[in-house]
Amino acid sequence: MGLVVQKFGGSSVATAEKYRRVARRIAWKKRQGNDVVVVVSAPGDMTDDLIERARSITDRPSAREMDVLLATGEQISIALLTMALHELGVDAVSLTGPQAGFQTDDHHRAARIVNIDTARIRRELAAGRVVIVAGFQGMDDHGDITTLGRGGSDASAIALAAYLSADQCQIFTDVDGVYSADPRIVPTARRLDEISYDEVLELAAAGAQVMQLRSVELAKQYGVEFEVLSSLAPLPDEGGEERGTKVVAKLSPNNHRIVSGVAVDSKVAHITLLGLPDRPGVAYRAFKALGDARINLDMIVQSAGTGCGNGPTADISFTCARDDLETALEVCNRLLPEFPGARVVYDTDVAKVSIVGSGVASNYGVAARMFEALAEKDINIELITGSEIKISCLVRASRAMEAVRAVHDKFELGDVAPIVQ
Ligand code: ASP
Ligand code: MG
Repeated sequence: MGLVVQKFGGSSVATAEKYRRVARRIAWKKRQGNDVVVVVSAPGDMTDDLIERARSITDRPSAREMDVLLATGEQISIALLTMALHELGVDAVSLTGPQAGFQTDDHHRAARIVNIDTARIRRELAAGRVVIVAGFQGMDDHGDITTLGRGGSDASAIALAAYLSADQCQIFTDVDGVYSADPRIVPTARRLDEISYDEVLELAAAGAQVMQLRSVELAKQYGVEFEVLSSLAPLPDEGGEERGTKVVAKLSPNNHRIVSGVAVDSKVAHITLLGLPDRPGVAYRAFKALGDARINLDMIVQSAGTGCGNGPTADISFTCARDDLETALEVCNRLLPEFPGARVVYDTDVAKVSIVGSGVASNYGVAARMFEALAEKDINIELITGSEIKISCLVRASRAMEAVRAVHDKFELGDVAPIVQ
């Protein structure tokens, strides 16, 4: 018994039948003696459709009006889900974000939650009701509706769990947890019982589609441990078990392992600035300009300085999202005249393969093992970067899937029990 926050994403409420299934899941949780607060997203692809509709009117919709429009998707979901609960005889009430007390800043379309006044939710819970809250939305100081950025219902749920000091926070989606690799690429991939915030953050940054990055950051910041579960799994009232992946601050001792997962990001571009002068301030100059253009850089590698004709030179390589390539090239080309002799080259036929795990830095030979897996398949590594809990290799795009499988096999992530350190 306790206070439970559940979140259901758009794919969980795409059809009438799915609303009914979600309602049964909620009803079961309530019957177990819990107070239940549910955050729900807009049905199916409705948010995308609403964006399209705005586009059919104007190329430059005002951000404020976009929020008024986009918030309607979630409002449909809360009403329908509450009706489905009523059909099951469950006392439930729907609340929009503002009604539920979500106060945000006024950054339309990407607002941040600044407070949740939980008084109304608590009153409804005290009256024995299940409370169905619209995710992804709130209200700013001026009384205007705001939305939290794409995928923002996750953030709504995490923040609500924090403000309500929930005993349990369950994020229901269309997969039953976080896997050691994408099962579509690696059929032997294993569902992880537990994963740390840091590992999820690194996996998501490495290209794994886990959940909205900012929500995991929020969870870490608030210390909200949560569980990722499938809304498609058998219902508990039909004997199904609630089994997913727990996202925690620290792995429990029996879950310690060197590597938790392998991820691949195919939407990257590799840019190299060749022949830059090897002197202080050059990297600063280049990366300041890229930063000002709001380009997120990922792998950054500088070669050792060489040459002596016009003084030593060095090459700097980096990767960025492929969507940012054009802007990044513009920035680089604009910089070139400052560095006579320098050139810029790029490559989009690449993919980044990464291993992530809290044991990466504290165990010998982890990098060598990854490189061995790639060497055995004759896959060339074009860039290497590493952090405390991640090692990434850039490889040819055409070899990326093979690389993921080879690395996954090498670390025996598929079919063995966790390796105890
Ligand atoms: N409906 C919003 C979106 O599609 C929020 C969410 O699904 O979390 O981005
Ligand atoms: Mg959505």
